[in-house]
Amino acid sequence: MGSGLFGATCAYELSKKFKCLVIDKRSHIGGNCYTENLDGIHIHRYGAHIFHTSDKEIWEWVNQFAEFRQFVNSPIANFNGELYSLPFNMWTFHQLWGVKTPEEAKAKIESQKFKGTITNLEEQARSMVGDDIYFKLIKGYTEKQWGKKCTELPASIIKRLPVRFTWDNNYFNDKYQGIPIGGYTQIFEKLLNGIEVQLETDFFEKRDYYESIANKIIYTGPIDEFFDFEYGKLEYRSLKWENTYMHTESFQGHPVVNYTDDETPYTRIIEHKYFDNQNQKRTYVSKEFPCDYTGDNEPYYPIRDEVNSEMYRKYKELGETSSKYIFGGRLGTYMYYDMHQVIGQALSTVKKLIQI
Ligand code: FAD
Repeated sequence: MGSGLFGATCAYELSKKFKCLVIDKRSHIGGNCYTENLDGIHIHRYGAHIFHTSDKEIWEWVNQFAEFRQFVNSPIANFNGELYSLPFNMWTFHQLWGVKTPEEAKAKIESQKFKGTITNLEEQARSMVGDDIYFKLIKGYTEKQWGKKCTELPASIIKRLPVRFTWDNNYFNDKYQGIPIGGYTQIFEKLLNGIEVQLETDFFEKRDYYESIANKIIYTGPIDEFFDFEYGKLEYRSLKWENTYMHTESFQGHPVVNYTDDETPYTRIIEHKYFDNQNQKRTYVSKEFPCDYTGDNEPYYPIRDEVNSEMYRKYKELGETSSKYIFGGRLGTYMYYDMHQVIGQALSTVKKLIQI
């Protein structure tokens, strides 16, 4: 169930041996990876999606379904009109302080580090990267993302802050990275080719029927909903987008600009044409606003604090008692996964199933 990356990958591989039916409550295939073609611009409907992995097998697997354009993710940060390179690297340090060598940058950061006892995310971040980077590039963005003050967030959220003392704006360290030429939806069309797909179909409306016809059901929806919220509701952050189609060639000249101050209500602006290096006379931009998950919007980012992790552990245990169901993907396992991780998880699920 679910035509997102987990469900579609499983269906593609399993249909080599078994009959599969895919259902999805949305009106399109592809889940959150879905892209829509608007006058030749491929719109990433659920936010910027950049494929990256260091796993050759997964890279080769996904390349069966589309040709990828090499894409280096190097967002720009806008802090009250000041522009900085991301991720934090020598370009950022030069823009912040005019420093030119790694030694100078290290000394500057060291002199600003928080040295007291760490009790929250703010102190954790200041102890790692010092005050200028924290106040200009982390604080506002993080508070908008989580909807809470950094002083109220646990230090554990930021375990690592990648800081590079090289002139390298490439966000991901992975060996392979890119974006499919022509968008992601074509991948799902190929994965699901020849398989029966029912869209706008909610699993819970005909649950008994699906149970009666299937030997195994792969469930990629929220695990707490599956168990009727028996142990409570798992918490998520959600997102909404404000989209504008513009009769101008370029809006910001770059695919992703992050707004790191705390007054701008959105966290990023995405200019979709630059994912594909297209040269249309028009452009399409999306402002991304983080918001609470209410149950009526989409759950995007699991809030894996102690309470939610413990609740999920109980749901997982309950799920393991069923021999019919397999819970997978980001909602079925209450975990934020990148695309390559979801493919990896799906391929190993299929391997286990085929051995049964
Ligand atoms: P989904 O894509 O959510 O698919 C689950 C499907 O199940 C959905 O289509 C849903 O409609 C369906 N479903 C749920 N409940 C029911 C029901 N009751 N009945 C019927 N159908 C149901 N990854 C990267 O690698 N690089 C990136 O740059 C990147 N950027 C991202 C940006 C954002 C804003 C977000 C939210 C995610 C990003 N990701 C990125 C992660 C990527 O989107 C996920 O790894 C991937 O989409 C997960 O696939 P999935 O199948 O687990 O979930």
